[in-house]
Amino acid sequence: QDDQFKKVISHAKEYGYIFPSSEIYDGLSAVYDYAQNGVELKKNIREYWWKAMVQMHDNIVGIDASIFMHPTTWKASGHVDAFNDPLIDNKDSKKRYRADVLVEDHVAKIEAKINKEIAKAQKRFGDAFDKEQFVNTNPRVVKYNEQAQAILKRLGQSLEKEDLADVKALIEELEIVDPETGSKNWTDVKQFNLMFGTKLGASADSAMDLYLRPETAQGIFVNFLNVQKTGRLKIPFGIAQTGKAFRNEIVARQFIFRMREFEQMEMQFFIKPGTQIEWYDYWKETRLKWHLSLGMGEDNYRFHDHEKLAHYADAASDIEFKFPFGFKELEGIHSRTDFDLSQHEQFSNKKLQYFDPEENKSYVPYVLETSIGLDRMFLAVFSNSLQEEELENGSTRTVLKLPAVLAPTKVAILPLVKKDGLPEVAKKIFEDLKWDFNVAYDEKDAVGRRYRRQDAAGTPFCVTVDHDTLEDNTVTIRHRDTMEQKRVKIEELQEIVKKEVDV
Ligand code: ATP
Repeated sequence: QDDQFKKVISHAKEYGYIFPSSEIYDGLSAVYDYAQNGVELKKNIREYWWKAMVQMHDNIVGIDASIFMHPTTWKASGHVDAFNDPLIDNKDSKKRYRADVLVEDHVAKIEAKINKEIAKAQKRFGDAFDKEQFVNTNPRVVKYNEQAQAILKRLGQSLEKEDLADVKALIEELEIVDPETGSKNWTDVKQFNLMFGTKLGASADSAMDLYLRPETAQGIFVNFLNVQKTGRLKIPFGIAQTGKAFRNEIVARQFIFRMREFEQMEMQFFIKPGTQIEWYDYWKETRLKWHLSLGMGEDNYRFHDHEKLAHYADAASDIEFKFPFGFKELEGIHSRTDFDLSQHEQFSNKKLQYFDPEENKSYVPYVLETSIGLDRMFLAVFSNSLQEEELENGSTRTVLKLPAVLAPTKVAILPLVKKDGLPEVAKKIFEDLKWDFNVAYDEKDAVGRRYRRQDAAGTPFCVTVDHDTLEDNTVTIRHRDTMEQKRVKIEELQEIVKKEVDV
């Protein structure tokens, strides 16, 4: 698993997808830059989402709100008071950790022991193995399970009560050590706000404390009535937005899974109070379908329904994806009730109510939210697509099987040799196709190596121009995934590629 993940990271760099930020200065932790291919893939994912959410729903419109917002926004939303992570420092190593993550990692180790016992028994009993019965009756596994659950329960309760002393007590009782140095010398647990602060205004006296937005959602809530009135929208309707968000994450690891600067794609759906369960189910299903439409494997997704809910929510579920390091949250679907709009009413002293012509009364709508991280989706697509295949002749090929609709370059045009007029014909094809797709032109090296390069870069089609092309205007089109080659007419190319890469 670790190896696979390392390959993903180095492949992303080698093929111009993602670079560490400010690399010449040794990078900046949890900050990354999208390179020439990465920016295209990211744009294509964003567009795929936007089309599905805005273009395909006649009752959803988009906006693009600012990153800076009036600071009271974050008082109202609860972020100033409650957007915290519990932190603990190790006195010897001076390293800082998220206290809850230390405990969760400890539990993960217990779970690993359970899995080991299961695997052992499975081997011993073979086909006759009944996993459920084993888990419920094997004394060691039962004990581990009880331990794990008791720890998680206590952690959850202490965090909910903000009893940070008990979180520390738990870390001490479990004898959790600094993962890097093995030291058990911990400080107290403190709350740490995840928002980045900055200042607006030139003079020191009049400067105003601002935050970089930690989520895009609030830009939608504060604009809700403006959009509804100017768009003459009737409930139910949605507002969608994509844009940057910033969080001072402490556990900044796992590449672009958890970044300090990242992009969200969010949609707030405004509904009549009392209809939230129905819309919650609708959006859970609709969003999962969107993911499945990319063909990345049904088994790679699962729902995780939350038992412990955030202060604003009355139901919440994550769509989890199987990343190289296991199933993790990719998207959240939250029933946020009227929490946000009511808070903004209170703090702004403005009415944020919708007049319902059918009911002939005004009310604060309820909100159903879908929220997905664009970078996390990028990682899901990229890591799932990177594959190594054994070929019939015994060699392996590295291929990036990106869904064609998302691939940065759709087709590469390759003259077989760099002479006899073949480059000229190839360039003519390039010039014709560039109106419809991102097209690459490559004439360096033997054609086999060029195929491999395009496979690894994720290009779904290669078109080769050879001497026969000069006679009959046909070319070879090669499919990345099957490596199948077909002879087709030049004028058919546009249609063939379009069929595969259009949504
Ligand atoms: P997590 O539990 O992983 O920190 P969260 O529950 O705080 O995530 P939300 O606040 O619900 O996340 O944000 C919605 C989505 O935004 C997440 O599902 C995720 O895809 C994305 N996201 C959140 N934080 C980050 C981050 N630091 N880097 C990249 N994407 C993020």
